[in-house]
Amino acid sequence: MAKRDYYEILGIAKNASKTDIKKAYRKLALKYHPDKNKDNPEAAEKFKEASEAYEVLSDEKKKGLYDQYGHAGVDSQFGSGGFQWSDFSHATDFSDIFGDFFSESGLFGSIFGDRFSGFGGRRRASVNRGEDLKIKLSLSLEEINTGVTKKVKVNVKTSCENCNGTGSADGKIFTCSQCGGAGKVRQVRQSIFGQMSTITTCPTCHGKGSIIKNRCQKCYGEGRLSQVKTIKIDIPAGIADGQYLKLRGQGNAGKQNGPNGDILVFVNEKNHDIFERNGQNITCKFPIIVSKAVLGGSLEIPTLEKHIKMKLPPGVQQGKIFRIKNQGLPYLNSSQKGDIFIQIHIVIPKNISKSENELYKKIHTFDEKRELKPGKSFFEKVKEYFV
Ligand SMILES: [Zn+2]
Ligand SMILES: [Zn+2]
Repeated sequence: MAKRDYYEILGIAKNASKTDIKKAYRKLALKYHPDKNKDNPEAAEKFKEASEAYEVLSDEKKKGLYDQYGHAGVDSQFGSGGFQWSDFSHATDFSDIFGDFFSESGLFGSIFGDRFSGFGGRRRASVNRGEDLKIKLSLSLEEINTGVTKKVKVNVKTSCENCNGTGSADGKIFTCSQCGGAGKVRQVRQSIFGQMSTITTCPTCHGKGSIIKNRCQKCYGEGRLSQVKTIKIDIPAGIADGQYLKLRGQGNAGKQNGPNGDILVFVNEKNHDIFERNGQNITCKFPIIVSKAVLGGSLEIPTLEKHIKMKLPPGVQQGKIFRIKNQGLPYLNSSQKGDIFIQIHIVIPKNISKSENELYKKIHTFDEKRELKPGKSFFEKVKEYFV
């Protein structure tokens, strides 16, 4: 079945504004979302189709490619099986698109899997929980291609050895007498509506439920101390800029033996000298000289790991793209790989020798005959010329 036009799917005109595109998508997503269409696989397909259209049309670069080349221009953005939910990059701005609708329905987990299951949900907070730490890691495409282990120094709070993390010099911890250890107190007030009761954090223990009378002198009662630690981070192959890894429990120790926070490792992808990344595909602008473009021959093509030979047909045109399968970046947690796209960039020589000049003049006499055919429009002639 032929793929439908993205504009047609969203029911918008080609010149629709960003806001219109978003509005159209929102309308369709609300109509087809699975909670409203249980046991209707068609709706799920429609939702996915609309999301694919939105993914492309809301992104200026992808939209440009689509406007110019149609589906062929953007298919390479997705894996070999076409658009998947993992390609959808707007899940995090869903709250912007849908307001509270989705976050409350709990739909996120069911559609997007674990990746977004934390969305809208609230972690059961512990007052003493240690803070999360954020680290930025710059990685080269080569490192992303193979996956890499990095050692990074972090300033992290760890449990105080002097007091075993309790914060108490004598090891004695008393239950807060005001809240009885609950950390919360109920306040009852009289109002015109009758008796009103509110629950607030206990002012004596600040929600901890316990009190230390004799503080540890090393950590001043916090039960933790700052330390520079070297941590090992295993980066999986195929990770992308802006994604992050969560190192559970490796963040700051909690106060007075509270639970540890996490370390969030954000990936920053370094620019590459010759490759540009699009999802798991990579593109390389490959310069060739004029005579090679005309005559064809063989090319040595770079990949992230090695050089490979490619046959170049004669008469290749400027901008022509060759696809070399399975030489791109690996998909996360998968043995599948993206592709490499080699885009031909024909280089015109600037300074040529006398003998070259003569040869080009000779070639020009052939070109002239090819060029001029009376009675046809310029564009027709151009079309014929490039055939
Ligand atoms: Zn201490
Ligand atoms: Zn208390």
